[in-house]
Amino acid sequence: MHDEKNIVKSDVIVLGAGLAGLASAFGVLGRGQKPVVIEKEAIVGGMSCSIRRDGFVFDLGGHRFLPHNIKTTEYVRALFKDKTLLLRNRKSQIYLGGKFLQYPPEAIDLLRRLGIATSLKCAFGGLCARIRQGILKEPENTLKDWLMHRFGQDLYDIYFGPYSAKLWGVDPDQISSEWAPQRVSVSSIGVVIRNLMPAKGRAIKTYARKFLYPVGGIGRIPELMAGQIGGMGSKVFLNHCASKITRHENGYMVEAEDGRAGRRLFFAKKIISTMPLSEFVMMLEPRVPPEVLNAAGSLRFRSVRFLNLMLNTDEVTKNTWLYVPEDKFTFFRIQEFNKWCPKNAPRGKVGLSLEVACQKGDRLWSMPDEELLDICLMDLKKMRVDLEKKVIGYFSTYAEHAYPFYSLDYRRHLQKIYRFMESFDSIVVTGRQGLFRYLNMDRALEVGFEAAEALYDPARRLHFLRDKEDRKYLESNLHLSKKKR
Ligand SMILES: Cc1cc2nc3c(=O)[nH]c(=O)nc-3n(C[C@H](O)[C@H](O)[C@H](O)COP(=O)(O)OP(=O)(O)OC[C@H]3O[C@@H](n4cnc5c(N)ncnc54)[C@H](O)[C@@H]3O)c2cc1C
Repeated sequence: MHDEKNIVKSDVIVLGAGLAGLASAFGVLGRGQKPVVIEKEAIVGGMSCSIRRDGFVFDLGGHRFLPHNIKTTEYVRALFKDKTLLLRNRKSQIYLGGKFLQYPPEAIDLLRRLGIATSLKCAFGGLCARIRQGILKEPENTLKDWLMHRFGQDLYDIYFGPYSAKLWGVDPDQISSEWAPQRVSVSSIGVVIRNLMPAKGRAIKTYARKFLYPVGGIGRIPELMAGQIGGMGSKVFLNHCASKITRHENGYMVEAEDGRAGRRLFFAKKIISTMPLSEFVMMLEPRVPPEVLNAAGSLRFRSVRFLNLMLNTDEVTKNTWLYVPEDKFTFFRIQEFNKWCPKNAPRGKVGLSLEVACQKGDRLWSMPDEELLDICLMDLKKMRVDLEKKVIGYFSTYAEHAYPFYSLDYRRHLQKIYRFMESFDSIVVTGRQGLFRYLNMDRALEVGFEAAEALYDPARRLHFLRDKEDRKYLESNLHLSKKKR
């Protein structure tokens, strides 16, 4: 029996205080309803959080805010009344074959670093692949097909193949091609070649050179949102991990493990969930049909561990971030956080984050910080970056559900779960984890707002999940600046 007095009651329970969860709560408040937000971590923000230590700011990997929708831009800008949302320039390179190459490629740089023969071979091979695919129109089921048809064998072998294999931990022929159009920021050899030609004021369509970023780290966005919804009467319960959801005649009871007080119960008529879809489905009571459970068990995420270094030096590279595709290096990307914002580290110091793709529980995920530090410092030395005597502090942060893994049959499983979720008229799943979609921050915010609408509008609710199956994503049409009136 539950002690009624101790049950936290509200109109809507929102699971997760990442961007999507906080946006959902804001949307619910906008309808005059009262939400409570349950978050398992000690801070808000989910994957868009910032960890601050000894004057350093570390995000979970680099987070550029690139809004595609003017309303989202205006909403986020309005949170920063103190004008601390900055427009920043991107500078990124690839470390390949012992050389630092500009990314996206620039003609002089490519010729100088790769040599005329390799550069021409890449360009020619890519064009041939493009023409061949234009004529043959071969199916593109896998990420490998997609990359080979656009860039050709040489660029695939040099960069795209190794980088993808390292990030995902499997060969690109095991990954669905659906992932690529959303995430490969240079979309074909044609785009690469056009970029090689010097022309003033031209930017690659799928490539953003500028981005928005707050003083204090990307986590300022969710922190300000949490403050906003708090001011409107909603409460975020931190350190509460939802573990069971039971359907009752008139609503849902959510049990959450509270690190300190044990277990707390929440009751509401409606739920918006932004936690990982598979975990959400598995904690529903009464138990869901076995075929849906099987589908949920088939959805996988790729994890990332971030080794954060506090360095006693004023610069490591000139980059905001650096791609490191080769397998011989443990990390696949390096973020230099004071290049994102100078205030991300004390004066004369650098906050460097090494991103290591892994699987929760595997060797790279589990090894002690000291061991990973030794390996990474050796790797950096191989790149002629010697930081051994400059490390004044280090710690790891983790993103277990960093990337939804689009396996070749993921869509079949996802559709089964989506169709099942459509049978609930008082539950909406949303956000990057909740939808199992490769959404960036701006879309996470938007699907949060949309989820609140869908919860109260049966027609919208019906289309909500179907829409999310097909969204295309390009880094074009950005709305970084203020609305022109
Ligand atoms: C390495 C990396 C780099 C990225 N870079 C960019 C970038 O440059 N630009 C960009 O726009 N986007 C970027 N993203 C994507 C961005 O992080 C996401 O789009 C956004 O954070 C998703 O927000 P969300 O609220 O949907 O999900 P999340 O942030 O994952 O929120 C889900 C929340 O649910 C909570 N939760 C989970 N289980 C439970 C439970 N049982 N009980 C209670 N709470 C629970 C989690 O703790 C979390 O807070 C990046 C992501 C990664 C991993």
